[in-house]
Amino acid sequence: MSAARKVFSVWQLVHHLLVKSVVERPGTAAVVGQGIPGKQGSWLRVRDRLRLEYGATTFDNWLKNIDVASLVGDALVLKAPSRFTRDWVAPRYGDRIRALWRLEDPSVNTVDFIVSESKLEQAEHSEQQPDSSGFVRAAPARGAVSSATEELAPLLDPKLTFGNFVVGKPNEFAHAAARRVGESDDVPFNPLFIYGGVGLGKTHLMQGIAWRLRQKHPGRRVIYLSAEKFMYRFIRALRFKNIMSFKELLRSADVLMIDDVQFMDGKDATQEEFFHTFNALVDQGHQIVVSGDRSPADLEGMEERMRSRLGCGLVAEVHATSYELRLGILQAKAEGYAGSKVPDKVLEFLAHKITSNVRELEGALNRLVAHSTLVGRPLTLDSAQEVLHDLLRAHNRRVTIEEIQRRVADYFNIRVAEMSSARRAQMVARPRQVAMFLTKQLTSRSLPEIGRKFGNRDHTTVMHAIKKVDQLCKADSAFGEDVELLRRMLES
Ligand code: ADP
Ligand code: MG
Repeated sequence: MSAARKVFSVWQLVHHLLVKSVVERPGTAAVVGQGIPGKQGSWLRVRDRLRLEYGATTFDNWLKNIDVASLVGDALVLKAPSRFTRDWVAPRYGDRIRALWRLEDPSVNTVDFIVSESKLEQAEHSEQQPDSSGFVRAAPARGAVSSATEELAPLLDPKLTFGNFVVGKPNEFAHAAARRVGESDDVPFNPLFIYGGVGLGKTHLMQGIAWRLRQKHPGRRVIYLSAEKFMYRFIRALRFKNIMSFKELLRSADVLMIDDVQFMDGKDATQEEFFHTFNALVDQGHQIVVSGDRSPADLEGMEERMRSRLGCGLVAEVHATSYELRLGILQAKAEGYAGSKVPDKVLEFLAHKITSNVRELEGALNRLVAHSTLVGRPLTLDSAQEVLHDLLRAHNRRVTIEEIQRRVADYFNIRVAEMSSARRAQMVARPRQVAMFLTKQLTSRSLPEIGRKFGNRDHTTVMHAIKKVDQLCKADSAFGEDVELLRRMLES
């Protein structure tokens, strides 16, 4: 990293803190959004949480432009910049937003979405903004995508290069595979499928490949898209009736990268399109790189033929981080901060305490450095503990599905085994639904994952359970109190 870049990134952090939170008194904790009372402050904190949980790409694509419209009584209304965004965000992220908001303010019961009127026209018809993870248009045109005039250039994050990727045991295989694709003049394995948990470096590796290819072969067309973006573009193309040019566009790629393919579950037409594109590119000998949060065989929302196609190249897992890897990543990052010296003790403390994923680890370090820059005092172990107290507390409090199942079963006096049994008698089905509901609220598990943990049930069953419990809580106050009590018990 150049000196200019280092200074810039610290400055960015400071700026971030200054605009997003009030400057606190020296010695108190710096928490983004803290100090801002009322609904705007709550929303800032919920947004930060969403960014952490879903990652920057998803956040920037869908959640960044959501804002609070009103909060009246127990009803929170959020506004989305377009109908499309609203229809996308409400069913996917609505529950989580509600759960996070209730941590701020338990009196909120409903979260609804509206479309902000002024932006309706413009958002529905323009595609001028560059995607954070996809195509950039040379000249904005209304609606239609014309492959002839469209300039393809993935907008890549300059930080996500191989040079900035720290290699350790948990990721060495995935890294070697990615390197190989980036360095090769031909197609070493097709597709390369990289999978692993949230925030473990999948996107980093994919963008690393894209950067390397751009350096080595500037003439090659690299298309990098998140699966969400892929679907978004596909649905748009359908709506504006230019599906042919969308197809041509994809098939003109020398290298096609699809990030977070698990989001493509259940969307039949999109999967179909992806399948055909996939086959066409493989037939032409063009490279495909795909990432997902689980192995191809476990992508249960995918059609069998797609799963087997995805698994037929090289499948590389990025494993959960080890202490050594976390420390290595922190050391590499800490070197990037020009002015502030981060003591080894602090780095070791972070590597011990924050084990979930690298994104949170980076976030914690950023916060510490920003804080010490702001208050003008060196970083110490004590100040680190103070500044991060909320994060560390949240970490200690993280509940598991098993714990939720056990507590809920206890509470309703049924056996834990009933949580995954096939029995549908109400006396076991209702507690099971409550446990699913609480799992959705208190963990970041996806609906299919929850279904699997509850006796291999379908994600639609989980969705139904959540709705049902939600309705019952409103209709029956005693039941609502039970659920609320359980939630508090699990959270404390
Ligand atoms: P994923 O796509 O798996 O959810 P990302 O690639 O977005 O995760 O990584 C999350 C953050 O952690 C990014 O800022 C990335 O640069 C960083 N990161 C992850 N693994 C490493 C690593 N091995 N070395 C350096 N940074 C890493
Ligand atoms: Mg990612």
